[in-house]
Amino acid sequence: MKFLVDFMLGRLNRWLRIMGYDCLYFRRDPFSGFKGKKDLIYQSLKEGRIILSRDTTLSKKKALKLIIIKSDFLSEQLNQVFKIFNLKLDKSKVFSRCIICNTLLTIIDKQKIRDKVPEYVYQTQNSFSLCLFCQKVYWKGTHEKLVEKELKKMLSL
Ligand SMILES: [Zn+2]
Repeated sequence: MKFLVDFMLGRLNRWLRIMGYDCLYFRRDPFSGFKGKKDLIYQSLKEGRIILSRDTTLSKKKALKLIIIKSDFLSEQLNQVFKIFNLKLDKSKVFSRCIICNTLLTIIDKQKIRDKVPEYVYQTQNSFSLCLFCQKVYWKGTHEKLVEKELKKMLSL
């Protein structure tokens, strides 16, 4: 299941990526006149992505599948998506994808990222993953527990 997330839903995009879902963030640029509704529909068809949008003027007929997100609140937005697609939080998928660029992360030897993380993190953490595209390093630890706790709260699990 792949999503194309419209520009008004940046936080939803980020949290779906944290949970491991394949999400492209669609930035509309009103000044260039290039990226508008038509481009959104075109990209969803080309890449087989489900559109998540707040824009009620989009045409459902033209899109592959279009979900109009009803709420302004992140937890309600997540619950709407989870309910529609009958999704479950899969802990093994959390932090499997780069939050910045959507690339799947690669588990990497600690020694190889020594110069890329703060010394304290290097000394206290043991499992690291790397985004081969944007070179961002991720590590588990307390951050992951906080994210899981937050997700459970939002999804009322
Ligand atoms: Zn990345």
